Amino acid sequence: MARELKKWKCFFCEGEIVEGQLFTFTSRGAVHWECFMTLVEDRLGVDNRPLLLLELDKYLHEGIVKVKELEYRARDEETRQLLREVRKMLEGQSARVTKMVAERLRL
Ligand SMILES: [Zn+2]
Repeated sequence: MARELKKWKCFFCEGEIVEGQLFTFTSRGAVHWECFMTLVEDRLGVDNRPLLLLELDKYLHEGIVKVKELEYRARDEETRQLLREVRKMLEGQSARVTKMVAERLRL
């Protein structure tokens, strides 16, 4: 029988946090990672667009790495071609997002 998953209540959204989800604890209790980020951004009062774009960019780059790994594992040309097309799309989008972050912050 599967063991019972631990659960907590998020002090911010009051939703349930289940073991295995991304979360953390503060002196106010358990909080979803996304809820914590929202709190931090609200408190800093900054324009959070660059942060969101950077996070999006990281997901796109992780996707590129993952798709590359699948390309190496693909055994037929049709699958390899499909993966290559998806990777090219991710590369195009990530280049666009990286440029937006860099331009906004003059990096
Ligand atoms: Zn929450």
